[in-house]
Amino acid sequence: MTISDAVVDKSGHSAATKAALDTSHFWMPFTDNKAFKSNPRIFASAEGMHYTSSDGTRILDATAGLWCVNAGHARREIADAVTRQIANLDYAPTFQLGHPLPFELASRLAGIMPDGLDRIFFTNSGSESADTALKMSLAYHRARGDTGRFRFVGRQRGYHGTNFGGTSVGGIGGNRSPFITQLWGVDHLSHTQGNAVRFQRGMQPGNEALADELESLIALHGGETIAAVIVEPVAGSTGVLIPPQGYLQRLRDITSKHGILLIFDEVITGFGRLGAATAAGHFGVTPDILTMAKGLTNGAIPMGAVAARTGIYDTVLDSVQSGIEFFHGYTYSGHPVASAAALATLKIYEDEGLFQRAAALAPVWEDAVHSLHDAPHVADIRNLGLVAGIELAPREGAPGARGTAAFQAAFESGLLIRTTGDIIAMSPPLIISEAQIEEITGKLRAILETLR
Ligand code: PLP
Repeated sequence: MTISDAVVDKSGHSAATKAALDTSHFWMPFTDNKAFKSNPRIFASAEGMHYTSSDGTRILDATAGLWCVNAGHARREIADAVTRQIANLDYAPTFQLGHPLPFELASRLAGIMPDGLDRIFFTNSGSESADTALKMSLAYHRARGDTGRFRFVGRQRGYHGTNFGGTSVGGIGGNRSPFITQLWGVDHLSHTQGNAVRFQRGMQPGNEALADELESLIALHGGETIAAVIVEPVAGSTGVLIPPQGYLQRLRDITSKHGILLIFDEVITGFGRLGAATAAGHFGVTPDILTMAKGLTNGAIPMGAVAARTGIYDTVLDSVQSGIEFFHGYTYSGHPVASAAALATLKIYEDEGLFQRAAALAPVWEDAVHSLHDAPHVADIRNLGLVAGIELAPREGAPGARGTAAFQAAFESGLLIRTTGDIIAMSPPLIISEAQIEEITGKLRAILETLR
């Protein structure tokens, strides 16, 4: 099947010259492929806070793409850096060889990580970062001679990408069950939403004792069998679940007491989303390993990274007299073009003070999203930094249908949101203006008022 709509390019010209799109062959990820073909939504270009769709509609991006375009779309500085880099050194391996950019980038990243997390491993995505972090923890314990630690603990409703490790420690049934086999020895803590207050403004006191479930698992299995606990400091993909005050610190205390590594998956929360370089920095809780991706390159080129405590790196290196210390890596680890994109992105964040901007805008964002508390169907609203989740009451007998309808109606009205089930999740680029925040909530109210 083909999409016959004219595609509109950035200059606004509808392009009869462009071939009609053939939707037969692309097996789309996390998509209802059949439904998509009958109602395709196609982006033609993007700039700043907006996409332009194939029919020329301007769409306000309230999700930074997929939580990644933190500095806004089509940044000239990134495009230039990428173009220059391809012309100069398009690819170079980093197995037993090197080139300057990943070294420079690792140093820059080490400078914005929490203290002590200053050894950086490069990947191509958040999923690869999650699996790298898990393998790093196993390698670390083994290097210390602590060979009995093979278990991992994740959290219900956690999302750590779609590779086998991340899927296993992730807590989303639908992502796991089709694939039958998972990592062995994985347990899940409860997610943090159940006991949270409704219409939560930022982080609130709540049931931080949920973290004590880890003590129960330790009592059950023996702490000496657990390699690492992995959590998103704020769970994003499953609907913006903000932990109660003290919860992350309690996880930190328990893991430290039992020699278990704590991994923060900061693929969403990194690079200013909460108004600081990392959620770890924002919350003042330092994990042993921290994963990143998305905002690292402003979404322009695939890249991920894992920051590890110096001691983890030293232990793994010291355990081998000579030869390769960590049998892990990717053809594109520290890719020159991705590194160039990341360096240009970090420069934008710094030059434009975007993390500080996010922190300054957070109260405006909070008031705006909570102004929807009395809109039809709204059951809960929660926010932190420049993130918000708006939970709709499910339509009777059709959970998720209202969310899907809201997503479609928003798109048609020129607003990009994300929905997971009946929860709307938003995470706009950090360059958003106050007027655009108002535009988002205005459009959402209008959509909710017409939604069945
Ligand atoms: N971890 C978290 C917390 C995420 O939100 C995501 C993606 O949304 C991932 C990992 C996976 O990242 P990627 O899709 O780049 O593999």
